[in-house]
Amino acid sequence: MSFLFGSRSNKTFKPKKNIPEGTHQYDLMRHAAATLGSGNLRLAVMLPEGEDLNEWVAVNTVDFFNQINMLYGTITEFCTEESCAVMSAGPKYEYHWADGHTVKKPIKCSAPKYIDYLMTWAQDQLDDETLFPSKIGVPFPKNFLSMAKTILKRLFRVYAHIYHQHFPEVVQLGEEAHLNTSFKHFIFFVQEFSLIERRELAPLQELIEKLTAKEAR
Ligand SMILES: [Zn+2]
Repeated sequence: MSFLFGSRSNKTFKPKKNIPEGTHQYDLMRHAAATLGSGNLRLAVMLPEGEDLNEWVAVNTVDFFNQINMLYGTITEFCTEESCAVMSAGPKYEYHWADGHTVKKPIKCSAPKYIDYLMTWAQDQLDDETLFPSKIGVPFPKNFLSMAKTILKRLFRVYAHIYHQHFPEVVQLGEEAHLNTSFKHFIFFVQEFSLIERRELAPLQELIEKLTAKEAR
């Protein structure tokens, strides 16, 4: 049955990361969802009055992880060893996987492998209670923001790969509006708190300008 090896038939790529009900982070998540519904993204991403920046970034990072997980999950059947032998975002950008911890020397690999490494790594960070404490009164570690920045920087690459290599399939699936809304929210969020360096965003710079220009009216 070796022909099945390496194929990914399940639609949900990684289990959804849940924020437990009854916690303050759950309330924050509800608040974020409600303000998003208002349609003003610039306003929706702002730190709610009196809230802790770390906690706000944590809740939103979990949300973006879930969104990207779901979006990529809809196109996994098109993102294969054959179609995407290298992890790229257009002809100018290629990514090699390293997490700086267990994998120090960057590995050149296919997009599905890279994204699997990336999402597994991100999930491990989100599940680490010392890094992403979900209980009230447990403080965030000093390096929290810098870790969140690294997670968001890497999650961006999945958007970049989807836009550059799989946009026709996204359109075919009718997921285009969903992808654009999710990415726009992501960009507004990272811009609000300067979480990703401009050069890291270069593969989608034109799109970012287009998406954010409309809002400036
Ligand atoms: Zn691909």
